[in-house]
Amino acid sequence: MSAGPKEFDLIARYFTRPAPSGFLGVGDDCALFAVAAGHHLATSTDLLIEGRHFFSDVDPRALGHKALAVNVSDLAAMGAQPLGCLLSLSLPDVNETWLQAFSEGFYALAERAGCPLIGGDTTRSTSGIIINVTVMGQVRPGQALLRSAAQVDDDIWVTGNLGAADIALRLLQGRLPANERLLAATRSALEWPEPPWTFGQTLAGVAHAALDISDGLAQDLGHILKASSCGAILDYSTLPLHPALQGLDPRLVQEAALAGGDVYQLCFTAAQDQRARIQELADQAKCAVARIGSIVAEPGLRVSGPGASLIRPHTAGFDHFS
Ligand code: ADP
Ligand code: MG
Repeated sequence: MSAGPKEFDLIARYFTRPAPSGFLGVGDDCALFAVAAGHHLATSTDLLIEGRHFFSDVDPRALGHKALAVNVSDLAAMGAQPLGCLLSLSLPDVNETWLQAFSEGFYALAERAGCPLIGGDTTRSTSGIIINVTVMGQVRPGQALLRSAAQVDDDIWVTGNLGAADIALRLLQGRLPANERLLAATRSALEWPEPPWTFGQTLAGVAHAALDISDGLAQDLGHILKASSCGAILDYSTLPLHPALQGLDPRLVQEAALAGGDVYQLCFTAAQDQRARIQELADQAKCAVARIGSIVAEPGLRVSGPGASLIRPHTAGFDHFS
């Protein structure tokens, strides 16, 4: 869709920072950039809708960050190196303060992740804010971390920690009693996710299967199990719980850790003989990793270990506390 005068002005003001050398960025009909010889282009897109994926009053700087973070997370989960991104915005009105903060949050992550904004689209919305980000990255053929690549006896790993974003969401939605201290400790996990993009790309050719945890560890790991025709046993006591979960009702902690979404960390599988290598890569990337279980031949997800007693066994998949 072509932009009217006001939209041109807006693009120029908020979404036109110089692209890195070698790129043709914002301003022409297409952006241009090279993919390294012998690589595949990896691409993914995510749509964020006001009232469904974010609260109307969310900090626009955090929203700009998160809109890109959830996409960079997909590149990390593929083992791909970020190359650039596109941003399409549909806005009901032009709020300069909102746009300034949104674009600052977006660009700050784009710079850190090496994922420059090189194009997009801007239109007027008739119902709320709609944000669409498309990311592009590169990965060597045969090295991408496919969901279908898990093998029996693989270790299962997760990066970062679990549960905090879910607790923050419950607090903000009033599904948990108001608790300022707990909200302060968990809110950044929900609003400022930091996907491990540096570590993710170093896993290409090292790990087997990977994905980013957006809908909860159990459900997302279930996608790997289904695509790879295998099962998994998790040791509950090894799950890296966010420190703020300490002291909360154990049942709530389990739900948050196993079924809580919005994590944007990786769950991946790798051969046991890669343990030292993976720990070394994680240390180099300053990324926390935890080994939480094993891939087994028998289908289904089982959770064992101390603390797992409250979890209902369910072999076809995971019954996430519906
Ligand atoms: P077209 O008519 O081809 O859709 P536009 O007038 O919409 O072009 O956009 C002009 C230029 O600005 C293009 O290079 C486009 O990629 C870029 N652009 C438009 N909106 C955005 C945005 N929200 N973020 C980044 N670049 C944008
Ligand atoms: Mg356009």
